[in-house]
Amino acid sequence: MNRMTELQPAAVHLSGLVKRFGNGAPAVDDVNLQIAPGELVTLLGPSGCGKTTTLRMIAGLEDPTEGTITIGADEVTHLPAEKRDVTMVFQSYALFPHMNVRANVGYGLKVARRPRAEVTARVDEALALVGLQPYADRPVDALSGGQQQRVALARALVMKPRVVLFDEPLSNLDAKLRHHVRAEIRALQQRLGLTAVYVTHDQEEALAISDRVVVMNSGRIEQQGSPRDLYARPSSHFVADFIGSANILPGQYDGRVIQLGTARIPHVQDMAQGPVGVMVRPEAVHLATSTTTGQGLPAHVVSVSFLGPVNQVVFETAVGVVTTNIDDDAVSGLHPNAAVMLGFAARGLHLLPSPKN
Ligand code: ATP
Repeated sequence: MNRMTELQPAAVHLSGLVKRFGNGAPAVDDVNLQIAPGELVTLLGPSGCGKTTTLRMIAGLEDPTEGTITIGADEVTHLPAEKRDVTMVFQSYALFPHMNVRANVGYGLKVARRPRAEVTARVDEALALVGLQPYADRPVDALSGGQQQRVALARALVMKPRVVLFDEPLSNLDAKLRHHVRAEIRALQQRLGLTAVYVTHDQEEALAISDRVVVMNSGRIEQQGSPRDLYARPSSHFVADFIGSANILPGQYDGRVIQLGTARIPHVQDMAQGPVGVMVRPEAVHLATSTTTGQGLPAHVVSVSFLGPVNQVVFETAVGVVTTNIDDDAVSGLHPNAAVMLGFAARGLHLLPSPKN
């Protein structure tokens, strides 16, 4: 029998959570968040926004100043870390370098005085989950960074936690390995139905790995939603800017049409009429053909960079700089200073409350 079927992923509920470290602004300021069993929720935001402090409060490594934390049916707000049935995977791996892989993974079970046969079986199973059985007897410092992070993951899973917490677990890996290990973490989390809270400042990683992304800013939740929602319908400049690439241009909205310089773009959104910030994702922009020229925005090419699958082209327009992606077959005439007309598709356009100051 697969012992991991005994995993009992739990809901997590944060209510009015506040953390103050001194007299200044709170590091975490009234965070309310409900995480469903089996869900992977990412806390995303710039350095200092309070995401790590929030994670550490869930772990029991930091004591909240106000508010409550519930895991499953239990309020755990001030419970010590070891009584919460939660495990954490750290950026630094936090492994014992002098011990082999098996001893590292089994350490928590040994401390909990589980019978030797059970420890062996559970460690074998956890190593199998992360594909590390062949390395069981190697010292951890003889493994690569990616393998060490897998050991850390096995060590977290072996405890059959109700919640797994990830604190920037990929930061020490190079870009290629980061993509690989994040796909592995996501696959395992979905296969086992783990409840997971994941902290990162990397928006691409957050979009790729999450069921739901919570964007934090200055200790507060700025917006939360599925990766697709946040990308398509950010509620503020901060989120639009932070997630994906966005051009945010000043425009006017009359309830049916966006006026963006000389371009008129039909658009329906629940938004007050008047000045707006127009978020234009790169995929919303195309080179206008002669039939749509009257609807377009005149532009000059500033630069063209070949990125492999697409070309990043930067245009100067009367309403600001527009950065976009253009396919290889459309890029040939685009040399610096070339005059073109830009057209806009509905997909990838979204209005924000007011132009950025
Ligand atoms: P990073 O990605 O840089 O870790 P973060 O979003 O995780 O940033 P936190 O580490 O949660 O942010 O920090 C939030 C704020 O709380 C910061 O201003 C930080 O300086 C402060 N802070 C965090 N831990 C402590 C501490 N132990 N003592 C004092 N201030 C702290």
